[in-house]
Amino acid sequence: MDRVCAVFGGSRGIGKAVARLMAQRGYRLAIVARNLQGARAAAGDLGGDHLALSCDVAKEHEVQNTFEEIEKNLGRVNFLVNAAGINRDNLLVRTNVEDMLSQLHTNLLGSMLTCRAAVKTMIKQQTGSIVNVGSVVGVKGSSGQSVYSASKGGLVAFSRALAKEVARKKIRVNVVAPGFVHTDMTKDLKEEHLKKNIPLGRFGDPLDVAHAVVFLLESPYITGHVLVVDGGLQLTI
Ligand code: NDP
Repeated sequence: MDRVCAVFGGSRGIGKAVARLMAQRGYRLAIVARNLQGARAAAGDLGGDHLALSCDVAKEHEVQNTFEEIEKNLGRVNFLVNAAGINRDNLLVRTNVEDMLSQLHTNLLGSMLTCRAAVKTMIKQQTGSIVNVGSVVGVKGSSGQSVYSASKGGLVAFSRALAKEVARKKIRVNVVAPGFVHTDMTKDLKEEHLKKNIPLGRFGDPLDVAHAVVFLLESPYITGHVLVVDGGLQLTI
């Protein structure tokens, strides 16, 4: 059977690094992001015959169309990575409903929609592996990120529940929870100050996280696990 992997949020940052590792390991990839040009550029960088698609994970019909396109072009998805995510960091009292909903819709509802579509096709195959990218703040909480933390904490609860629901169908669901990682999402943070709290003394690289994602995708006896990849940050917060 072909190994077909959909990477939502695969055009940049952590998702792009996951896609690179998966391509090296011989998977057929669908790189998905809202910006088609970005997805195409990332797919092109991989070499080989990978698919680039535009999709907003928060839109049910776009997610459904995306899975249909992938099946038509590459075959049924049997590996899924949810790395699409946004943050709108602010104190709760200054956060408006629009920012609350956009984070919940992208980070939580989006993963629910892609997982639902993936599980439907994985059940037919009686195999499948999903990794959702959460965050260490979804486990520990973070001041100034209450809504983002909630979206990622919800993702942990969702993933663990889904892992129970689909285990009998031989489908696994796990979470990788990164700390600070060098990507567009963290480019405006004060790294010199923040890295003092990280026992390993540095922000992570996308590849540091990607290795953990690939490990869980391919580990046949791990499900419902949350793997924190944060240089030890969770020990200090
Ligand atoms: P980037 O901002 O570098 O990349 C985000 C990716 O998600 C892009 O490919 C973007 O493409 C895509 N994306 C965003 N919104 C949507 C959407 N609605 N539908 C489809 N695709 C979308 O982020 P990172 O690589 O840093 O983050 C990846 C994941 O890791 C996120 O879930 C993030 O919350 C999480 N994380 C990141 C940390 C960090 O320090 N960087 C720490 C902890 C967790 P496009 O804009 O074209 O849609």
